[in-house]
Amino acid sequence: MSTDICCPACGERDDLRGERRDALIALVCQVCDAEWVRDPAARPTCDRCGGDDMREAAQALVEKSRGTQLSIQSFRQVWLCPSCDSERYDKYKVSNRPLPPDELPTESEF
Ligand SMILES: [Zn+2]
Ligand SMILES: [Zn+2]
Repeated sequence: MSTDICCPACGERDDLRGERRDALIALVCQVCDAEWVRDPAARPTCDRCGGDDMREAAQALVEKSRGTQLSIQSFRQVWLCPSCDSERYDKYKVSNRPLPPDELPTESEF
């Protein structure tokens, strides 16, 4: 299996462990303990323009738990269309960091 993937949290490429979970693969970074789930059978097609030139990205998942303990960072695989999601995709490329969660706990940005 080719691994052109790297940890969304720290960028590690080699020290990753894959675990099958039903049809999905959960990858765990041995360096920073981040965990993210990929669908190896994903057929990336844009549901808006039908394009198939989708780019893989990682999105952070919201932690619902409260408290001061550090929780394991978890991410999921998302697909961005370079034309429909160009703004998001450009940001992602430039920042080289996982996308923020869809639902933000607070509306601090607006
Ligand atoms: Zn990592
Ligand atoms: Zn599109």
